[in-house]
Amino acid sequence: MTRLPELYHAYLQCSDVSIDSRKLSGNSLFIALKGSQRDGNQYVKQALQDGARYALADDPALSDCDRVFVVPDSLAALQELARYHRRQLKLPVIGLTGSNGKTTSKELFRSVLATKYNTFATPGNYNNHIGVPLSILSIHPEHEMAVIEMGANHQREIEFLCTISMPDYVYITNYGLAHLEGFGGVEGIVKGKSEMYEYARRYDKTALVNADDPKQVENSAGIGKIITFGTSDHVDFNIRLFLTKPYVAIAFSNQIIHSRLTGIYNFSNIAAAVAIGAHFGIDTEMIKQGIQAYTPENNRSQLVETERARFICDAYNANPSSMEGAVYNLADFDGIRVAILGDMHELGDYTDEAHQYIADLCEKVKIDEVYLIGEFFSRVKTKKCVKLKDISTAIEFFKTYDTRNKNILIKASRSMALERLYPLLGIPS
Ligand code: ATP
Ligand code: MG
Repeated sequence: MTRLPELYHAYLQCSDVSIDSRKLSGNSLFIALKGSQRDGNQYVKQALQDGARYALADDPALSDCDRVFVVPDSLAALQELARYHRRQLKLPVIGLTGSNGKTTSKELFRSVLATKYNTFATPGNYNNHIGVPLSILSIHPEHEMAVIEMGANHQREIEFLCTISMPDYVYITNYGLAHLEGFGGVEGIVKGKSEMYEYARRYDKTALVNADDPKQVENSAGIGKIITFGTSDHVDFNIRLFLTKPYVAIAFSNQIIHSRLTGIYNFSNIAAAVAIGAHFGIDTEMIKQGIQAYTPENNRSQLVETERARFICDAYNANPSSMEGAVYNLADFDGIRVAILGDMHELGDYTDEAHQYIADLCEKVKIDEVYLIGEFFSRVKTKKCVKLKDISTAIEFFKTYDTRNKNILIKASRSMALERLYPLLGIPS
């Protein structure tokens, strides 16, 4: 793109970048993207009136407009602009991906690093081909550290996102059974996520490796610079599990660090954040404060206690690995345990097997009541679980449900939007 330096100059004069013409600061660079429903080009003129200083568009009809950069493809230009900006940045960029726990780890990294450094981290879940460049463009000169989440549901996606974020440090949270359909099976997941290690190997970057995870150890082999953490003595940062319920606590450097996260699966998320903090010279007392300061939001394993019951609100998303972790965690609670689980999507040929596995697991572990919601779960064979064929049936059912003195887990894929049951169960919004 010939006008990149000119466009970059315009970007530097703006205070922010927006792809939503309703969210303009008064000094924004508005980027007109074509969505499945709308074409951002249609909003360019309005955006310039409403508070965009410049706009980037790909409709040739806008060529004559003042303050508009017209390019062949706005999305490609956004990505190119982000690469250009990234090359100017001097701060360490930590890139993370993985099947589960990316946002949780990212927030924990932010919380720990922010105790010492002015830390930028991906806003929300902006982890794809649009979110990553937007995140990179939100890093400003005053930032001292950046944490960038990268998500993927098919091969070569992480490789591509790394060409934009160019991480100095990489971390793969885990290899789990998520997006099986797009990745083409379990092998495909390992290969796809490992593109991040491939990047580190090729460009001599540093990998943070959970030494307790044999797949991470195996796939990171050959990377020149590796920081290890885990429960064994042969690691750079030895971190042990101290307590699992209701919240996870860890032991590090003769201190106990209590988190506000439930579920043993969060141990590695916390341990990685502790290791990254220690690597960047943050003292244990501050690491402790950083971990304790983070409370999960948006239905990511949120523990909600009311006078009647205890809820594990985990309706944000689900896949076989995270569902398995959540079920085991529930089984570990004292008292009556109830699992309200909805369908898991994007599993392709593995769909029936995965739903049957979860139903069987619920029968095997100590769970007193199991409710399975959705089309996929309706196909499982089960003696103990109650099947509710869809969300409307579930809503009818839970209208009169007695939650008293129970531990209740609510979890499903995002599109099931199982949080629709919350008001009926008495979960405060
Ligand atoms: P997305 O792919 O939607 O961006 P994510 O990888 O960012 O998801 P989080 O949002 O951090 O994941 O967590 C979502 C859910 O995944 C949590 O509520 C929890 O149920 C589960 N989870 C978190 N960490 C782990 C982990 N290390 N192993 C297994 N499951 C986990
Ligand atoms: Mg995420």
